[in-house]
Order: sequence, then structure tokens, then C-alpha cells
Amino acid sequence: QWLTRKGAVLVVGYAKSGAAAAELLTRHGFQVTVNERLARPDSDETLERLERAGVRFVFGGHPLTLADTPWQFVVKNPGIPYQMPLIAALQENHIPIFTEIEIASWFAASPFYAITGSNGKTTTTTLVGEMLAASKMHPAVAGNIGTVVSGLVDKLRAEQPVVLEVSSFQLLGTEWFHPRIAALLNFFPAHLDYHGTFEAYQAAKWRMFQNMGAGDVAVLNRDQPLVADGAKHLAPKIHWFSTEHADFDHGATVVDGHITLVKDGAPRALLPVAEMALKGHHNLQNLLAAACVAQAAGASDEAIAHVARTFQGVEHRLELVRVLDGIRFYNDSKATNPDACKQALQAFDKDVVWIAGGLDRGISFEPLEDYLRERVKAAILLGQTKEQLAATCQSAGVPDVTLVESLDEAVRAARARAKAGDVVLLSPACASWDMFTSFEVRGSMFKEAVHRL
Ligand code: ADP
Repeated sequence: QWLTRKGAVLVVGYAKSGAAAAELLTRHGFQVTVNERLARPDSDETLERLERAGVRFVFGGHPLTLADTPWQFVVKNPGIPYQMPLIAALQENHIPIFTEIEIASWFAASPFYAITGSNGKTTTTTLVGEMLAASKMHPAVAGNIGTVVSGLVDKLRAEQPVVLEVSSFQLLGTEWFHPRIAALLNFFPAHLDYHGTFEAYQAAKWRMFQNMGAGDVAVLNRDQPLVADGAKHLAPKIHWFSTEHADFDHGATVVDGHITLVKDGAPRALLPVAEMALKGHHNLQNLLAAACVAQAAGASDEAIAHVARTFQGVEHRLELVRVLDGIRFYNDSKATNPDACKQALQAFDKDVVWIAGGLDRGISFEPLEDYLRERVKAAILLGQTKEQLAATCQSAGVPDVTLVESLDEAVRAARARAKAGDVVLLSPACASWDMFTSFEVRGSMFKEAVHRL
């Protein structure tokens, strides 16, 4: 219904997804105005191209007068809160507010396979992409993971599947978004500042399924009651993933130590869990979820098993960087909080040389103690939180604690303390901004230092 009238549309937030949405809508005949809080950039090729195509820009703030225009609809950047005065005023005027994934879905003939959850989205989305690619299905992988889906829909071949990582922020702005397969991985309290309550955050994620019907597939976590209990409200067929249960007709599970796919009640063992390349219980869950989605999408067992055996991890997430003299070096720079770091430590039983520390956000590291005890033989600490982490290590009885000034020094110190069979793990438990511009830069510098050894 939104495509019959090509009216005036306001895009709020220019960065990346806003630009792509503006370009898509302009190409399809809408009159687009883009509003951005920041000042007009000096030179920007995309901006100039959009202006030539007739897009109007309002830079340097969000003037409330923009709410006086009877826009057909608004495309809001997912990061902008609904309480922002201009958005609130537009809502008061009953103007529909969408996010860019909603718009993109109107123009795509391809099936969307969507993945959301509090943790593991990028890993699972990447795994599904790899499994479909290994089955020669030529998927496009997009969404929160990087590529903006609005920038891609007009380039898709007919029926080319789109594997889409979606966030709760994006889902809040959907109305007709209709994935054919959708996976909900887990719920952990997150982004409560934006959503208000944990319930509101969960409700945003459940929106993913709102237009799905009996011919579609919902992939759900059997092991997390918060997720599993929601199944009874859903219209699509449920495929379960679980590391503990196998009491379902469709899904993925573990039977006798083997990753096992189930279809129409019949199990097929694919490979032993021990042969999986990714480490950690959380990654087993992600792999099972991905296998469920891939199976429902029509990927072959061989492709799924091949990816399970070979996929080493998404960059900066428990990524195996190098094996040197029998020492395995892992980059988990994405672990920007203690919870994520716990997941990484859990992946190893013992003999970890742990590199950690970073921006001080005043959070407690006490929850790490149990994970450090017995697993970590030496800790190399840097950044603003190094003294605090040293105290945590002391309480946990870590026998060898060293404070350093640089990542390079940390890597050399770790190498000196590790022997064959040990693991050197960068899993900082802190954000990177005290010493680096991003967790990606931190991870890349770690990898360079490891390769220099
Ligand atoms: P997201 O895209 O949702 O942020 P990622 O795949 O990038 O998730 O993983 C980020 C971090 O979250 C990982 O380094 C790990 O510490 C943690 N994590 C990943 N998958 C899970 C999971 N299934 N359950 C709990 N924690 C997880």
C-alpha cells in the first residue's frame, strides 16, 4: 500500500542506512528529504549524487518545524530514540515511523532469513551465510552486520536469499516486514536505556514474527524459557535448537556428542561436536541455530557439516589468530564487557594466558572471579582498569599478574609465559576507547603483534 502513492518522505539520520534508504526511495519515485543532526560534511560523493537526484537535505539539527509537513511516512535511523522531540512530534501527528529494513522489504522479491537475539547475532548470521554459500545458494548477507539492506535490494537476483542480522532497534520500526525464516537466539537484559524495560525489549524482538504464517519457519531456542514460552503465540512452524533436548520434530540438537539435525521426527547425525572449529558453548548454540535456519532454507547436510568443521569465527570474536610453537592465540576484542569475557573464558578449561583491561566504566569485575580461578595461569593487564583487574585476579588466586603499558608489550609478555598447549586470549572485558578508536582497531593491532612474534 505504501508503493501506490509516491509522496513526500522524511529520512531522519543520514549516516549509512539513511543514505541508502534515501537513495532507494528516490530511485522508486518518492520525494525525499533527509534530516541530520550533524553539520553538512565538506565533501561527500553520496550526498552530491543524492542532491543531483532531487533529495533535499536539512543539516545541523532536528527542527520541530519538520513535523508540520504531512509526510507519507518517516524513515528513522534505528539508533535515534522515539523520545527525540522531532520523532515524538511526528508521532503525535500520526505519521508512520519505519526503519530502513521495513522499507527494504517492500522492494525485495527475495526471501529474507532474519536473525535476532541479544548475543550471537553476527556469528549466527555469518554461519548461515556460509552454509547457504556452501550449498551454492548465493546468499546476500546484510543488516546490522554491515551491509545496509536498502542499498542491496535493487541489485538482488530473483529469489536470491537475503540473510539478515536484525536488532531490536530495527524491529521496532517494522510493520509489514515478513521474513520466511526467522531465528530468535536468546534474551539477555540489554539496551534497557532505549527500550525502557526488559519486557519492551523482548516485545520488540517478537515483532520479527508478526507477519509470518503457517508456511514460514520460526527458529527458537528450546533451552531458554523466555524464548521457548513465546512459541505458543506464534503462527509459523517452530524449528527448535537445543544443546539439552531432542524432543521435537524439526530442528538441531546434540545426540551422543554429535551435532544432529531433525526433520519430520527423523534425526541425522552430522559430525561430532568435538570436530567443530568454533570454541565455546555459546558458539555451539549459535551453530545449532544456524544449522536450523540453513536446513529450513534448503542447504545440504554436507554444506552445514563443512562449515561446522571449518568456520573459525567472525573477526574479533574468539577468533583463532595463530598457532605458534603449540600456543594458540585468540582475539576476542569484541568482549567489551565482563559478560562477553565470561563466555570466552568458559571456552577453555585451563592454561589460559589472559590479556585484558581497557576503558573504565565503573562496572564490577567480581563476576569474573569464578571464571578466572583455575583457568587463568597468568594475567597481562593494560588500560584504565588494569589495577582493578589485578585486584580481581588476586582474589581469584591467579598466580601470575603483570601490568603493562601497550598491547605490543602485552603480547610479548604473554608469549614469554605460555608454553605448548596453552592459550593466549585477548578478551578485555572492557571497551577499547581509553587506548584505541574501536574494538576492531584493538583486535587488529593484537593480531599484528601476534604475527610479529
Ligand atoms: P552480536 O552480533 O549479537 O553482538 P556476536 O556474534 O558478535 O553477537 O558475539 C558477540 C559476543 O557475544 C561474543 O564474543 C560472545 O562473548 C557473546 N555471545 C555470542 N553468542 C552467544 C550466545 N549464543 N549466548 C551468549 N553469549 C554469546
